[in-house]
This record gives sequence, structure tokens and C-alpha cells, in this order.
Amino acid sequence: MMDKEEICREIDGMEPAMIDTWKKLVNRDCGPDCKEGVDAVGRAVERFLKPLGFKVRFHVYEKAGNMLVAEYGDMTKPFVLLTGHMDTVFARGTAEERPFQMTGDRVTGPGVLDMKGGLTILLHVVRLLLAHGYDRHPIKIVLAGDEETGHKNSNGGADYLEEAKGALMGFNMETGFLNNGIVIERKGVAQYQFDIDGVGAHAGNNPRDGRSAVMELCHKALDIGNLTDCEEGTTVNVGVISGGTVANAVPEHASCKVDVRFSRQEGIDRVEKAFRQIVEKTYVEGTTTRFSCLVKVSSMERLPGSEALFHQAEEIAESWGLPAMKAIAVGGGSDSAYLTRAGVPTLCALGVKGEFNHTVREWAEKKSLTERAKLLAALLLHL
Ligand SMILES: [Zn+2]
Repeated sequence: MMDKEEICREIDGMEPAMIDTWKKLVNRDCGPDCKEGVDAVGRAVERFLKPLGFKVRFHVYEKAGNMLVAEYGDMTKPFVLLTGHMDTVFARGTAEERPFQMTGDRVTGPGVLDMKGGLTILLHVVRLLLAHGYDRHPIKIVLAGDEETGHKNSNGGADYLEEAKGALMGFNMETGFLNNGIVIERKGVAQYQFDIDGVGAHAGNNPRDGRSAVMELCHKALDIGNLTDCEEGTTVNVGVISGGTVANAVPEHASCKVDVRFSRQEGIDRVEKAFRQIVEKTYVEGTTTRFSCLVKVSSMERLPGSEALFHQAEEIAESWGLPAMKAIAVGGGSDSAYLTRAGVPTLCALGVKGEFNHTVREWAEKKSLTERAKLLAALLLHL
């Protein structure tokens, strides 16, 4: 096996080829409305990995980008899981409108940061290490095709969980942070809507016939908001309320939208149970309430194993002369949730660094492409 100076030199030399891959990946629409774009990227990744000796298969979905699974080595043994996603949030046509562009150290284009850069690093580092006889652990690569929509139109969540079983450790090549934070915990996110039906009436002529949906909502909004438990790591925010039409009518309808962030599965289970009780309880006789879940993304739970993995990674990075890292917990979700749910110690946000995911201002730092490639190579060689 090569020494670290040699690997770093080789990675520096790989930069033009990596940028070429990055550019090709960015310049292909991979939004939620573009399954064929995501699937084309999947096939391109397959063409990249097969000659290296990977066995490649797909979980095929009808209404979402397919999930790629590539395996190298004896998969009956504990393996290293490298993961990420191929889709972006951007609508069809974006790649043509504002394609991959490099201005000094700033790179822009749809998904340049989230996460075509990380995907590029993953592919090139694996190729480099295998070319030099890497055989420390078997490798499994799992690339989702519908991360950004939370796998709501596919079986991707369950498939992830299944594929992660038996992994020794996981590295997610998601969006990197400029402050060098490595994510070992992500809160889960869920959003709900509550709808209340009352009975409308004129506030002057027949107020006693009315059943106010707004009054009912006022009571319930308090109950909902009071479910916050900071110690448990669960916050419940009633973010939007609406109801009624004019001041002189008893309101017939009212509704609210609620955002829940949770560190642990128990937290969201508790809140949902309480929601069902809140719906059943009635403050204003004659009103009825229903609620529905709009979106739900699981939490990446902080595992003791992830903390231990981070501390090892920190030392390795230091010995390679790479920038100091820090372990962080963030609010936004990722597929790392499935890895930690399967009990796999996981480091997330190992991709290129930058800012403003999911917006037209999204940009990535060019020099982080080789820096993060060195980090991944170092982790794979030493862990
Ligand atoms: Zn992402």
C-alpha cells in the first residue's frame, strides 16, 4: 500500500478528472420530476464501478429514481458502507439554465454541493484505492435516487435499512460544512396539518347556533405546542394558524400547520400518540378535528459508536495534515438516519464543502474536492 504522501500526490493529480466527473453529474437534471435523469446517473455510476470489480444491482422503483447498490469483496464479512444520493431538488431544465460553472474557487450548478461533489469523491477515491490493492474491508456503496423527497414514492427507506445491516461503519458523502463539522447526529423532521370543522353562524343574529372552530383551535394549539420536551430533544412548533372568514361570523373552519423536530424515535412516537388524543378531545361541543402527516424524515440518532468513530477519524485527519474537524449535530435530515437505525456507526457530511443547499445560491468550494478525497482515502485506509 502506498504511503500517505503518495496518495495525496495522486489525488492532487486526479483533480482534473474529478472535476470532469463532477461537471457531468451536475449537468444532468436529477430533480424529483426527472426519474430518467437519476437513472441515467445510476447507469453511469455502474459503468464506472463494474470495471473495478464491483457487483452492481438496482432497487427499481416505478415513481422514483432507482437505488444503486454496488458490492466489492466478500459480503459475508462486515463491510464499509459508502453512501449518498444521486437526485437533487431542482426542476427539469435547471441544468441547462445554469450549468456547472467554476469561478475561482467557487463552483455552482444544480446539486454541485448537494451532493454531486460528494458522489464524485466517492467514485474516484474508491477507484484509486482499489487500483493500489485496497483490501481492508469489503465495500458496499448505496446511492439513493430519491433522498430529497424522503423516499415517499418508493420503498427506499426500508431498502436502505436492509442494505445497511451488517455494516461495520458508514460514511455519507453528503454536503460538507465550511466549518469542517462532521455530522454524527441529525434531528428528524415531521410536519402535520390539523383541520377543525365547527358550525358557522351569524355572530349577531344567531350566535348560539354556532360552534367556533377557531376557539377549538386556540385550545388545541396550546395543547400541541406544550408537547415540546427540550430534554428529550423534541420540539413542537405551531407555525401557521388560520380560520374564519369575517369578524361577524362564528368560524366554521380552522386549521394549523405544525413542525416537529426530534432527536429520537421515542420522541416522535410520543408526540403522535398525543396528537391522536388531542384530536379526540373536544373543547367546543359540536366541533370535530382531524390531522394528517405531511412529511416525515427519520432522525440520525447519536450512537456511542459514531462518537468513537469520529474521534478515530479526527486523529487520522490530523496525522495526514488535514484540517481539524469537529463533531456536530444539525437540524436537517439525511439518509444517515437509516444507517444509525440499523445500528451502524456513521459519519455524515463528508462531501465537498459549501453553502446554501436547495437554493439558486448553492455553491461549493473547489479546493475541498481534493481535500475531502484525501480525508475519505485516509479513513478507508486506517479504519
Ligand atoms: Zn443531500
